[in-house]
Amino acid sequence: MNSPIKPPSADHSPSLFAKREPVFNKAVNGKFRRLKWAVMAVCLAVYWITPWLRWDRGPYAPDQAVLIDLASRRFYMFSIEIWPHEFYFVAGLLIMAGIGLFLVTSAVGRAWCGYACPQTVWTDLFQHVDRLVDGDRNARMRLQKAPWGPAKIARRLLKWAIYLVISFATGGTWIFYFADAPTLHQAFWSGSAAPVAYATVFVLTMTTFVLGGFMREQVCIYMCPWPRIQTAMLDEKSLIVTYKDWRGERRGSVKKKERDPQAFGDCIDCNQCVAVCPTGIDIREGPQVGCITCALCIDACDKVMDEIGRPRGLIDYATLEDSEREKAGQPPTRHLKLIWRPRTLLYFAVWSSIGLAMLFLLGTRVHTGLTVAKDRNPPYIVLSDGSIRNAYTLRLRNMESRPRTMELTIEGLPGARMWGDDMPRENAARVLRRTVAADSTQPMRAYVAVPPGTEPQDFIFTLRSLDEQRESDSVEARFDGPGEDQ
Ligand code: SF4
Ligand code: SF4
Repeated sequence: MNSPIKPPSADHSPSLFAKREPVFNKAVNGKFRRLKWAVMAVCLAVYWITPWLRWDRGPYAPDQAVLIDLASRRFYMFSIEIWPHEFYFVAGLLIMAGIGLFLVTSAVGRAWCGYACPQTVWTDLFQHVDRLVDGDRNARMRLQKAPWGPAKIARRLLKWAIYLVISFATGGTWIFYFADAPTLHQAFWSGSAAPVAYATVFVLTMTTFVLGGFMREQVCIYMCPWPRIQTAMLDEKSLIVTYKDWRGERRGSVKKKERDPQAFGDCIDCNQCVAVCPTGIDIREGPQVGCITCALCIDACDKVMDEIGRPRGLIDYATLEDSEREKAGQPPTRHLKLIWRPRTLLYFAVWSSIGLAMLFLLGTRVHTGLTVAKDRNPPYIVLSDGSIRNAYTLRLRNMESRPRTMELTIEGLPGARMWGDDMPRENAARVLRRTVAADSTQPMRAYVAVPPGTEPQDFIFTLRSLDEQRESDSVEARFDGPGEDQ
C-alpha cells in the first residue's frame, strides 16, 4: 500500500534561506529625496562633529561638550553633568527615546526607519557611493553581470576602499565620545591609545562596512526587531506609503490606455517605483515589512504622473481608513488631523511629562551631597573614660566645578562630639569644616562620641556648603550603645 505521506525530497523541502537578490536602486529626485538628503546631512554632521564641540566648564572639568567619561563615571552634555547616583536621568532619556519612537510611529508611520535610523542613513550613503563609482541602476546591473576583469576588479576595489574610509570614520568617531577627542585623536595616531580604543574602532569599522556595504536591507527585513514591533503598533489611522490600487489598476502602457481609457487605470506599469526602492520591493503588492516608508517611490511615481498628465499621488502617504474613503469617492482626512488623535496625544503627553519632570529635577537638584555608612562591627565602643563611640564612613560630594568649603554638623544626639582621622580627639566638635575638591566626592571617617548613659537613638548628619549657594543635604543615622544593658 502506498503511504499518503510522501518522504521529503529535494524537490519538496523548502529552503530555510532566501538568497539575497542584489538591489540596484535608481537615483530619484523629488521632495522626499530632498528631505532624506537633509536628514542624512544633519544625522551625519551631528554624529561626526559633536565630539569636537568644546564647552567651558572651568579648570576642574573636561571642556568637551558631550562626553561619556567612564573613568570618572560622569556623563557631560553641554551644561548638564550627570553623576552615577543620578543614573535615573539616563534611564529617563532612554524611556523618552522609546516613547518618542512610539509617538513618531503613531503619527507618521515608520518615519524613523525611512529617514533617521543609522542603518538607513549609512546604507543610503553607501548606495550613493555605488552610484558614484559604478553609475546608476543599469550600469550597476551590467557590471554585476560582467565577468571579472581588470576594470571590474578596479571598480570593486575603489568602491570597497571608499566603504572602508566611511566605515573607519564612523567607528573612529565613536571612541571620541568616551574621551577628550583631540587628546585621543593624537594618541590614536601615535599608537599610544588604550588597546580597547583600537579594538572598538576595528569592530565598529567592520560592522559598518558589512551592515551598510553588503547586508543593507537584509538588516531591516531579517535582523531588526523594530519593523515587527511597528507593524503591531500601526492601526487603520497610521500613515503608511500606499499604492492606490483603485486608481492604478488595471495596469497598462500609455498606448493601451490611449486606445481604451476605461479599461485601464493610472499605473502604466513602468516599474519606476520598484527601480528606486532601496529595499527592492514592489509597493503595489501592498504594505510589507520590507517597506521602510522612505517615500522614494512616491517621488518616482509623481514624476511619471507628471509626464503622462495624470494627478500626482498614485502612490502616497495614506491611512487604511482613508484608502477606504477614497475608494468610496470621499475626500481623505487632512494629515494634521491624523497626527493629532487621542493615541498620538497620549504618547505626546507621556513623553513630554517625562521630559518636563526631568527638566524640573535638573533645575532643582542640589550640587551638594552626603552619604553615610555606619560601622556595623563593632556597633559601638566604650572608651576608657566611659563615653560611647560610634564610627561612620561619610562621603562628601561637591558637584560644582570649583572647590567648596563645607560644614558637617550633628543634629540631635545631645552631648555628642565628632572628630575625623585627620585630627586629635581633643578638637572634637559638633561642627567640622572640610574643603571638598571640585567635581569630586571626598571620603571621610567620622567618630562620634557621647557621654556615658546616652540611650541608642537616631540623629542627623547635615552637610552645608558655605558659599553663596548655602546648599545642604541631610542624612539620618543611627547611634548604637549598650543602652539599658550598660
Ligand atoms: S511608478 Fe507609478 S506608474 Fe510606474 S509602475 Fe509604479 S505605480 Fe505604476
Ligand atoms: S516601497 Fe517605497 S516607501 Fe517603501 S521602502 Fe520602497 S521606496 Fe521606500
